[in-house]
Amino acid sequence: MIVKPQVIKTICEMQKISTTLTGKIGFVPTMGYLHEGHLSLVKAAKENADFTVVSIYVNPSQFAPSEDLDSYPRDLERDIDLLAKLGVDYVFFPNDKEMYPEGYNSWITVEGISKVLCGVSRPSHFTGVATIVAKLVNIIQPHLMFMGEKDFQQIAVLSKMLKELNFRTKIFPCPIVREADGLAMSSRNKYLDKTQRSDALCLYNSIKTVKREVSKGNRDLNNLKNIIKNIIDKANGKIDYIEFRQIENLSETTVIDQNTRLFLAVYIGKTRLIDNSAI
Ligand code: AMP
Repeated sequence: MIVKPQVIKTICEMQKISTTLTGKIGFVPTMGYLHEGHLSLVKAAKENADFTVVSIYVNPSQFAPSEDLDSYPRDLERDIDLLAKLGVDYVFFPNDKEMYPEGYNSWITVEGISKVLCGVSRPSHFTGVATIVAKLVNIIQPHLMFMGEKDFQQIAVLSKMLKELNFRTKIFPCPIVREADGLAMSSRNKYLDKTQRSDALCLYNSIKTVKREVSKGNRDLNNLKNIIKNIIDKANGKIDYIEFRQIENLSETTVIDQNTRLFLAVYIGKTRLIDNSAI
């Protein structure tokens, strides 16, 4: 029998419940409109914790005024049905007033690492992310928080925040889930029309091509970036960034070794897509 998760809308009630749970709490923060990528995190939580809490909250503070906060897709009923099938215990679904009451003015910024890659074109994004996650972790008190490597920089920023602010919660990173043709799953893929959906493959094609080049011995970062640039140009993509970085602190790299990762952000039409991969 499928039992629907208990939906909790207030901080007070969520805190009350989390203090009574005896066992490991696994937490999956999401903005909803769930796909297989999110569900892979939920499955990992079910396997590695005693209770699973999923939050669904489209956090306004991580969107710039020009971004897609209002049009961000939402479908709570469908999300709850999907989570019920996986046996999720609680869904935390607060509203904006609950999370940011009038006069709210406390923010967390992880300097340095928040300012590179996505932080360049989205300068306030990671302050919004760090702040909401710190609040959610304080409310839910999870032992483990399950997050996708699709947002590799987000994991790096939040790991640093949790460590430096002495939270006890640890991040459990989960691999990127892709569509059959390689496009990384994302709620924002919904914005793509048919042509754009096929153009969007340029991110995964770039990753595949770079891996092939590197395995043939090409270690020339500029040459590899040019190869990617050509693939993206041909697909009518507009490059936000193409960067190779070390996984440790996302520091810049001049070499390719086992710790180097490729990071891409590309606009397909108005939709900004990101992807990354070890190479
Ligand atoms: P979002 O709802 O976009 O804020 O994402 C919530 C969580 O799901 C984050 O930890 C994301 O990294 C993760 N996630 C989103 N897409 C994927 C994917 N394709 N594969 C794995 N994890 C993902």
